[in-house]
Amino acid sequence: MRKNKSTNCPGCLKIFSLLILFIFLNGEQLFAQEKNEIDEKRKTLINIKDTLVKLSSHVYAILSDGEAGNIAIYENPDGLVLVDDQWIELLPKVKKLLATISNKPVKYVLNTHFHYDHSDGNKVFGKEGAIIISHDNIRKRLEEKQVLSLTNLVQKAYPFEALPFITFSDSLTLNEPNEKIKVYHVKNAHTDGDSFIEFIDANVIHTGDVFVRYGFPYIDDNNGGNIYGMIQAIDMLINYTNDSTKIIPGHGPISYKTDLISYRDMLVTVVSRIKNGIENNLSIEKMKERNPLKDLNLAWDGAFNFEMIYGMVKMKLKE
Ligand SMILES: [Zn+2]
Repeated sequence: MRKNKSTNCPGCLKIFSLLILFIFLNGEQLFAQEKNEIDEKRKTLINIKDTLVKLSSHVYAILSDGEAGNIAIYENPDGLVLVDDQWIELLPKVKKLLATISNKPVKYVLNTHFHYDHSDGNKVFGKEGAIIISHDNIRKRLEEKQVLSLTNLVQKAYPFEALPFITFSDSLTLNEPNEKIKVYHVKNAHTDGDSFIEFIDANVIHTGDVFVRYGFPYIDDNNGGNIYGMIQAIDMLINYTNDSTKIIPGHGPISYKTDLISYRDMLVTVVSRIKNGIENNLSIEKMKERNPLKDLNLAWDGAFNFEMIYGMVKMKLKE
């Protein structure tokens, strides 16, 4: 039997109201997405200065003076290899600098980790045909929305063309004509997908954000970062480098082995003083009050979080 179309529908009003509520909530969500703070940051990038530095006959760096990760570039006759690619908004500046090196396209982009200020340019270079290469965990992170520690910034999932096409679990080598480029994963340091990229012939290393020059490093523990992993990774790097190795940090100027050593010492001092406080049964409040780290140069306050490091040290002591 066919239902009479003209039957009164007492549930219709309810369904209609739910529909309106649904549209409203979705609108709210859209509004919230528009207010995404990473997108808000995009409006502040205009004054960031990018500077090109030549490090060997065919390896260069683009160093940023603002919130954008440093880039390494290898140039050969059939195209460019980039390590990290900053923000889409900065790519006109970046491309202008790349054009002074070569008129060839970018053929590979290697990502040091998944954070937006290092990998946002994937969306452009990936679309233009560059092959993006990264550790497995970077691809996993980029495939989905991520919430970053301390700042609670939401990094939206990347479109398919911006995702790494080739991934590796431990290490990978690009055998370029004049350069062996070695990429190796370091476990749970700044995130869970960090890689160092070494230009072996040129004796240059890009460290990603495991090594930075703004003071105490930001550790993304929501996404696998850990202070002990950072120390371990820097120790490995110190053994790996010699006095003439040119180090491109995630942020900051070209650095050398001596800078790595003082950075490692700062991290170790932070951990040992907090450990000492815990072993002397000081509460976190008491320890913060006494401030055992006041003589250290932890310059960027936003990156250092007492509770986070205290938690990591306490966890380690329980192991
Ligand atoms: Zn980062």
